[in-house]
Amino acid sequence: MKYQILITYYNKIAEILKDRLPFIPALQLSNAKTYYGSYWKKGDRSSITLSTKTCYPVDHDELVDTVCHELAHAIFCNHGKSHTTTTEHFVNIVNENLKGTII
Ligand SMILES: [Zn+2]
Repeated sequence: MKYQILITYYNKIAEILKDRLPFIPALQLSNAKTYYGSYWKKGDRSSITLSTKTCYPVDHDELVDTVCHELAHAIFCNHGKSHTTTTEHFVNIVNENLKGTII
């Protein structure tokens, strides 16, 4: 599948951060033009949607930022300071883990 790279990135990043997350949202793909990623939660169900229109072809830094931003919503639903700090923390951890590797 053309967009497998997005799924691979998501799974890899979720794996790196899993001990820091209360749960791992399911991944969905869309072809929306208006966002890179979005987060959805209702009761026990949650998902992160990545847009194939805006996230593909992959820009590594942009995709890591997007996935970390959305995963941080599993902890903080809003866009407050805590969410920003957590996203930055996640990005640093992921980049440290992925250093020297090829996805
Ligand atoms: Zn957000």
